[in-house]
Amino acid sequence: MKPTLRLILLALIVVVAGCYTVPETGRKSMIMISPGEEAEMGAAAFADVRTKEKLSADPAANERVRRVGQRIAEAVGSALPGAKWEFVVFDEPKTVNAFALPGGKVGVYTGLLDLAKTDAELAIVMGHEIGHVTARHGAERMSQGLVAGVIGVGVEIASHNSHNRDLWRIGYGLAAGGATLAFSRANESEADYIGLRYAAKAGYNPMAAITFWQKMAKAKDGAQPPKWLSTHPQHADRIFRFAEMDA
Ligand SMILES: [Zn+2]
Repeated sequence: MKPTLRLILLALIVVVAGCYTVPETGRKSMIMISPGEEAEMGAAAFADVRTKEKLSADPAANERVRRVGQRIAEAVGSALPGAKWEFVVFDEPKTVNAFALPGGKVGVYTGLLDLAKTDAELAIVMGHEIGHVTARHGAERMSQGLVAGVIGVGVEIASHNSHNRDLWRIGYGLAAGGATLAFSRANESEADYIGLRYAAKAGYNPMAAITFWQKMAKAKDGAQPPKWLSTHPQHADRIFRFAEMDA
């Protein structure tokens, strides 16, 4: 592609791009995907996961995840307009993982429920995952990819197809085919911060984060390291940051 054509394309993209203000942190980010499109992709990816994973029939586990999830959803309030919240428990005792997708779709694996013994600990993880969604990290990532693609070789801009749905799943921490593509460290810190604020607003003690991360760190040395850690790299300073954070 000719350099001038590239520039014109890039200028077009920037013009149509929206500037998004991240809830709780106020950070400005450039996002070129509408919330409606995002919710649509999130719902499609969630429906896909639901058909592939085993749903938990345990009423206590389902009730617990819904109870905590609904309180966090109330704390999120208008930060996720048009959310159709759904909280689902997947019956996989060996999978220590959870995820949230645009539109308010949240999945928790029974392995994580075993590790997060208290509702406050569960709220920390769910708050973090939902924080990625309200901060629109996946859309931000895809937007960066679109810009990079145009600058590089030129891409089809209207490519919201099934390939993107896979990217989406990976971006939000669902390991598809073993591939993982974690969010940036800055995104993780932001989701940590937002998650703590949501947990606190929902009435849970944000200090539960400290004990929970300590347990996660211990579980890492076990025979089955938590899947959550493959998309959430552990930093030694994370626990200290939580301790210092004014949530
Ligand atoms: Zn995360």
